[in-house]
Amino acid sequence: MNNRSRSSALFEKAKTLFPGGVNSPVRAFKSVYGPPLFIKNGNGYMIYDEDDNAYIDFCCSWGPLIHGHNASFIKDAVIRTIENGMSFGTPTKYGNQLGELIIENHRYIDSIRFVSSGTEAVMSAIRLARGYTGKSKIVKFEGCYHGHVDSLLVKAGSGLATFGVSTSAGVPESFVKETIVLDLNDLQGLEDTFEKHSHEIAAVIIEPIPANNGLLLQDTNYLVWLRKLCDDYDILLIFDEVISGFRVGFEGAAGLYAIEPDLLTFGKIIGGGLPVGAFGGKKYIMNHVSPEGPVYQAGTLSANPVAMTAGIAALTKCLEPGFYEEMEAKTQYFINQINAHIKTKGYPVHIVSEGSIFWIAFSDERIISAQDIDPTKMELFKKLHTYLLDNGVYLGPSGYEVGFVSGAHTRSISDKVAALINDGLDQLF
Ligand SMILES: *Cc1c(COP(=O)(O)O)cnc(C)c1O
Repeated sequence: MNNRSRSSALFEKAKTLFPGGVNSPVRAFKSVYGPPLFIKNGNGYMIYDEDDNAYIDFCCSWGPLIHGHNASFIKDAVIRTIENGMSFGTPTKYGNQLGELIIENHRYIDSIRFVSSGTEAVMSAIRLARGYTGKSKIVKFEGCYHGHVDSLLVKAGSGLATFGVSTSAGVPESFVKETIVLDLNDLQGLEDTFEKHSHEIAAVIIEPIPANNGLLLQDTNYLVWLRKLCDDYDILLIFDEVISGFRVGFEGAAGLYAIEPDLLTFGKIIGGGLPVGAFGGKKYIMNHVSPEGPVYQAGTLSANPVAMTAGIAALTKCLEPGFYEEMEAKTQYFINQINAHIKTKGYPVHIVSEGSIFWIAFSDERIISAQDIDPTKMELFKKLHTYLLDNGVYLGPSGYEVGFVSGAHTRSISDKVAALINDGLDQLF
């Protein structure tokens, strides 16, 4: 293993300060070997740890850094804004600018509200759906992640149980009862559930491109059918686009598939690397949010000028002609080299992608729902992860995490990484 002595020492110290030594659990490297890396700086596609190891980064802060690390056009804009102060707790023109930029370029958003994280966006959208419909139950899908919202930390119960069980201690049973968990791509299950419970279901929430438990690409037809079924039963459809928003296209998955959800949630890319989330959608629903309507929602640092500035800079760049086409072409160029090698060798693994999101699936079958993933295969990922770290490539520290290509990645660097991944796979199989 590469030298991680400073990272190790920092992690030992961190353990005395934070539960498990971290401020977000997956950072603890529990699913891979060795102590977590403490990163000290990043530039473009590179990151550097406290031991001065250099890595080509395909995690990109879990998605927000669509333009790579320390993009100068974001940094310069943030510094200019910060000269005037960091937060006023008042409206500023920067909020208007980011709001307008999004509304004018996203066909399904005519009103939006900024918050400070993806979790907050989802929590607020759920409350709005409940406040708007006057109903309380939410349908979610196994394998989709929506942040650490109490009522969404629920997985399917066993057998024929309609209601799920919490995946976290501290979630009251009464909250869990408000959540119905179904498998992705289970048309019959959804129809039966709507038939029985539609009078109590406020909304269905889905990651239209599920990317938090592998990359579980759905059939477009399924999503189109889901939209129609929600309409038929008078149930709101919420697209959680915290990852896919501004990633697979400016209009995210909704735009890619031309499906209009009632509400959408955002995070990650929208803040250009600073903490921003948002929920938005149809005006006649958003009008129910306080102070215009009765659904309370607020935030001390919401739409603060510094974070808004980062978002404006990041999203303005995304709107440049050809930006997403190039991102997708680059990603294809990268993964094709790996998939071609896998095919030649006949390894039971493949790389799946959508836009600039990719995932190493340790199976030769298409994986469409959470239960298709074989957890024992994660041992293979662990070994590959270590091999890649030792050779200067950083992937998210779990086989369930997707990777991200950024605007900063080049074709020549992907040649290098593809060759390393191919070597790593040769060692595994
Ligand atoms: C990351 C993520 C969230 C949570 O966002 P945070 O900013 O981490 O709170 C919610 N939904 C999806 C789909 C995500 O990927």
